[in-house]
Amino acid sequence: MDSLVLEYRDPLFGIIVFFSLIFIVSFITYSFNAYKERRARKDYRKLLRRFEIGKLKEEDYVHLYKTYNLPFDSIILLASTFVHEGNYNKAISVYLALLENVNDRIKKEELLELLGTTYFKGGFMQRSRDIFLKILKFSPRNKKALKHLLIINEKLKEYNNANDILDCLEELGIDTKKNKIFIKTLKIINDPILSYEKKSEKLYNILKEDKLVQRLIAQFYLQFNKKFFWDHVDEFDFKKIVDIMWYLNFDDIDFDKISKNNFLNELYNAKGYIKNLKHSEDFVFDILMTLNSHNHKVPATIDFEFICNTCKHIHPIFDTRCPHCHNILTFNVKHNLVKDLNEKNQSLQ
Ligand SMILES: [Zn+2]
Repeated sequence: MDSLVLEYRDPLFGIIVFFSLIFIVSFITYSFNAYKERRARKDYRKLLRRFEIGKLKEEDYVHLYKTYNLPFDSIILLASTFVHEGNYNKAISVYLALLENVNDRIKKEELLELLGTTYFKGGFMQRSRDIFLKILKFSPRNKKALKHLLIINEKLKEYNNANDILDCLEELGIDTKKNKIFIKTLKIINDPILSYEKKSEKLYNILKEDKLVQRLIAQFYLQFNKKFFWDHVDEFDFKKIVDIMWYLNFDDIDFDKISKNNFLNELYNAKGYIKNLKHSEDFVFDILMTLNSHNHKVPATIDFEFICNTCKHIHPIFDTRCPHCHNILTFNVKHNLVKDLNEKNQSLQ
């Protein structure tokens, strides 16, 4: 019998059986895994649908807090996703719904702060101010509220209110010197009664004390009192306002005055308005002067960028208050050589 089996035991048959087994096992394992994965995906999708934050209504947040006892901080975090998405209206309605259901004083203050900053970010200045004033009623030393109120009053041109807030911040030990000079300057520039002559003199007194606000003052003079500007041209540090001077109209420039100012002389040589210099220590000016001296015009010009010295963000346009970190007068201007997209000859000479 044994010998008979051995006779039929073809070696090829064994190999076929062996591979068939491997195939069957692999197939079963694969099908099972595929099934498991499909189920897991379905469950995951179901879970995602349940927690899709965008679909939760304002009351759902209240429910999460009151009925399901989800921690307050987690709910605030959920609602903050709307602020990050720029969906301020939704965030505001969630905060308002929560406010009506929160009794704890600290949580209420936190919600009001969030509400105030969200109104602020959304550009609703009056509402933001109302909220921060409400906070100050029961928490008069809230620095966040005071700092926001300062910016809001500045934006709304309510400079007396801004000064009152600066006094409060000073009492809390915050250095307000920079802000005080800034608000004082804005108050003079925007005064509806003072004459331009009177404003010019008052601004000049500030300029002599502190160069911090020189850009605002230079802009005022160049718009309303050009003679005063050129008479006091040596008071300005033009490296800090190089962009203003670069874009000045040819007719507004007092060429007698700039001949005595090295920086301006180089700047207007680089621009091509005058040709009395061959070289500049400034690399960009130097290249432009060389290009200007050639007969065929090379389309090159200067472009400016502003770097905040506090948060280091770079901005394409000047702003007195950094849109990113909200500090005042922190922008340093930098000039770069770029291709002139205008292509037209800017030289009037
Ligand atoms: Zn900044």
